[in-house]
Amino acid sequence: MLRAGVDLGGTKIQSVIVDPEGEVLGQDRIPTPQDQGSAGVIAAMVASVRSALASANASLDDVLGVGVGAPGQIDHDDGTVSHAGNLPDWLGTVPVAGPLREALGVPIELANDVQVGVMAESQLGAGRPYSSMLGIFCGTGVGGGIVINDALWLGRGAAGEVGHMVVMPDGALCPCGRRGCLEAYAGRAAMEVEARRRVDHGKHTKLFTIMQKKGRSRVSSGVWAKALAKNDHMATELIDRAVWALGLASASAVNLLDVEAVVIGGGLGCRLGTPFADRIRAAMIPHLILPEKAPQVLSAALGDLGGAMGAALRVQHTVPPPGNIGVVHEED
Ligand SMILES: [Zn+2]
Repeated sequence: MLRAGVDLGGTKIQSVIVDPEGEVLGQDRIPTPQDQGSAGVIAAMVASVRSALASANASLDDVLGVGVGAPGQIDHDDGTVSHAGNLPDWLGTVPVAGPLREALGVPIELANDVQVGVMAESQLGAGRPYSSMLGIFCGTGVGGGIVINDALWLGRGAAGEVGHMVVMPDGALCPCGRRGCLEAYAGRAAMEVEARRRVDHGKHTKLFTIMQKKGRSRVSSGVWAKALAKNDHMATELIDRAVWALGLASASAVNLLDVEAVVIGGGLGCRLGTPFADRIRAAMIPHLILPEKAPQVLSAALGDLGGAMGAALRVQHTVPPPGNIGVVHEED
């Protein structure tokens, strides 16, 4: 049987169809509707799963279920997503699993987007050779996850918030409202705020010109990469600062957990790739208590598909035996 996975993001919805070995057989990627509220987003997810199935020459009868990785707070039992600030007009607590199950007629497995992305890297990506790893995903914010003995360590539910490890007491303002967190230095949103602040103080950069030329309203990962390629001074400085913060946070985490690998993912992490991971490792080593046993620091291997693939992996956990799913298939 196949499994479907959906990565629900603020700008795009990525769906994949995977076989039992985790091989991607089909996929679909569409922009997240920005002006139709949560109902529009859910309808787009349904359409995206159907389109991914079509690209795999498969139907809903072939899938065990659909895994969904979503931002914000997930209530697995109620099937709801709350506090998803990145999703357009996503107010309060929104039922997601129920409406999707009704529309698709298969079991739905809801999980946190970063956690499924980390598990995908652990089971199918850069972390595959290791039984322990730390995932650090740099995108709009900085998320993460801890894998110990091939399983995600959840603590009391919120473990893995590497983005809010303090790297500088009373340091830069973090989007979480506190100061000096890793995310305040290595999250794209905070880095853009800092770039705008420097421009307001008379500093020059090509970042915003590149952004406009690309037709973007935000300084995306591609904009950062392009500015770096053009040797933009401010972009270089701010990426250097992110590397410094990521090195410090990784070192503290490694001293605490002694994991075999650190996997750098997320939009920005994937875009900057192996050279970025190598620089983070170099920044980390001076702070390690056992530098001779420094872990691998690797760029995430699954790229944009990782979140959706990890969501699909979730399906195996809860799906009851065939004939017992209690849901009527509406159509193929
Ligand atoms: Zn923070």
